[in-house]
Amino acid sequence: MSGYFANIKEAVTSIFDGMAVTFSHLVRRPYTVQYPDRVPIRVQDTLPFRYRGILAVDIEICTGCLACERACPIDCIVIEAPKDKETRQMMLKRFDIDIAKCMYCGLCAEPCPTGSIHHTSEFEAADYTLNSMLLRFVTAPVPAYKPKKGPETDPVLGPVLERGLTYAEDFALATATPAPAAKPAAAPGAAAADE
Ligand code: SF4
Ligand code: SF4
Repeated sequence: MSGYFANIKEAVTSIFDGMAVTFSHLVRRPYTVQYPDRVPIRVQDTLPFRYRGILAVDIEICTGCLACERACPIDCIVIEAPKDKETRQMMLKRFDIDIAKCMYCGLCAEPCPTGSIHHTSEFEAADYTLNSMLLRFVTAPVPAYKPKKGPETDPVLGPVLERGLTYAEDFALATATPAPAAKPAAAPGAAAADE
């Protein structure tokens, strides 16, 4: 008989224990973040510099060198940059990046000589069609950028190139794998001495 009442007491106690935890949430501050429209700061603005988000291309400083296209291990980038037969000027006719395939590895941004191709802090790309994830940076043929010997004097290109070069330098430094320490050179005659 005493076991019967002990069971009832235990059941009632455990119900009150559980409800105490439940009701305590009524007076706690909520932890839920109602993303994306009710966050105090855009998440993109809080991401660190090395965040590798959706790629962008400053086409006006792209030299058409194809280094990024070659570096991509999964062929996300397609560039067409033939030389104009009359002017001998390289023309950018196509520069597409398929961000549905992209794995955000950064291998394309590292070798870019001008920082034209770069990661952004943007990561929202969900859409209803795969077509919308094919980014086309060239809509009409444009001449490829020719780096100057001195500083860029064009008032429009100058700031874009400066941003690109800063990015290229910082990104390469940030992602570069440290070279293994060189082994100390063996003293002359050391091998013979060991034998
Ligand atoms: S980030 Fe990587 S996968 Fe994406 S385009 Fe660049 S090299 Fe290709
Ligand atoms: S984005 Fe950079 S690496 Fe790619 S073709 Fe243009 S200059 Fe070369």
